[in-house]
Amino acid sequence: MTAENIIWYGHDTFEIRGKNVNIFTDPFQLTTKSKADIILVTHSHYDHCSPEDIDKLLKNDTAIVASQDCKSKINGNVTGMTPGDSVEIKGVNIEAVHAYNIGKDFHPKENQWLGFVFELDGTRYYLAGDTDFIPEMKNLKDIDIAFIPVSGTYVMTAEEAVEATLAINPKLAIPMHFGAIVGSESDATLFKNKLEGKVQVKILDSV
Ligand code: ZN
Ligand code: ZN
Repeated sequence: MTAENIIWYGHDTFEIRGKNVNIFTDPFQLTTKSKADIILVTHSHYDHCSPEDIDKLLKNDTAIVASQDCKSKINGNVTGMTPGDSVEIKGVNIEAVHAYNIGKDFHPKENQWLGFVFELDGTRYYLAGDTDFIPEMKNLKDIDIAFIPVSGTYVMTAEEAVEATLAINPKLAIPMHFGAIVGSESDATLFKNKLEGKVQVKILDSV
């Protein structure tokens, strides 16, 4: 499993380039001139739901899928989702799943914030969002590529992220949520080293 079609702009911002559509996740502090076919937004914290960054990506037919509380903050054609919802947009199946903290208050489960499972060109991606290792992760099936937060503080530590990734068992795991607001490259390196021989990990260079 390769990540050649994936660009990392830092934090939780990825561009996944498919054959016909590209997908951006949680656009934040963007410098790219790219436009988006689909934008996924996990929750309303400013470093994930950023109206000015979303605006930069919009073209006539951009479709946005966002948590309900982010929907009210942003422009464009937005589908609000809660965990358990799914939608097909431009041939891409998108399922909203839970993302929340256990034992800390930053991301309460009752906020109904999101992770996403989506399928693009036959590859199944899991964007975890801001979350701890939650029981729902054990129900994820056939994930090819998983984007996993590793910074600690607001989300899983690198060590907790290792446990979560072993439960999810993706073909490839890509660490995120470090190097911008919290967490550093050393968290990503620890994550990769601890999964050595168990799950393939790729640390992307941010652009
Ligand atoms: Zn957050
Ligand atoms: Zn965050």
